Amino acid sequence: MAKKFVRAIFPGSFDPITNGHLDVISRAIKLFDELVIAVGRSPVKNQLFTPEERVQMIEEIIRQRRMKGVSVESFDGLTVEYAAKKKADVILRGLRSLTDVQYEFQLAMTNRAVAGIETVFIMTSEQYGFTSSTLIREVASLGGNLSNLIPENVYERLQQRFKKRTPSEGSRKAGSQTGG
Ligand code: ADP
Repeated sequence: MAKKFVRAIFPGSFDPITNGHLDVISRAIKLFDELVIAVGRSPVKNQLFTPEERVQMIEEIIRQRRMKGVSVESFDGLTVEYAAKKKADVILRGLRSLTDVQYEFQLAMTNRAVAGIETVFIMTSEQYGFTSSTLIREVASLGGNLSNLIPENVYERLQQRFKKRTPSEGSRKAGSQTGG
């Protein structure tokens, strides 16, 4: 029997993409024929990069690492509608720890109930179990060294971004974030 072609979408804010996300992506490309990284355009609290900037950084990584079958796009509105438009077979989400499970479980159940689409979860490496875009934004705003947790182009972009602000402005803007 011919193997079915499987297309997955990996939706998220990716503000910015981290090595944790990339760890999940590198595992996922062994399982799926095509993977679309889908950057949500809906306004998020304390957004640091525009959707265009987030897409651009991910495009650079895909190109530099010659990731086959991986592409990136931004999308508006409901993930399940975007998944249907892309004719995706599954939604991919990453798991860091048990605390992610409760929220992700609800989200996956809702998406299956409303659109009949399955969600596949991939657990990240232990070394990225504590990495979140929120923390990256906060630590970067205070000038911390993040080179082990994010790709080089993201690190450079963060350094440029926070160089433009005074330290107090940077920490004020990024200091009260939650989630993501
Ligand atoms: P969202 O705001 O939709 O949660 P994120 O960009 O924060 O968007 O995350 C997208 C997906 O990647 C989510 O499934 C999230 O759990 C997962 N994720 C985030 N950080 C990591 C990490 N360090 N390791 C593995 N998965 C992660």
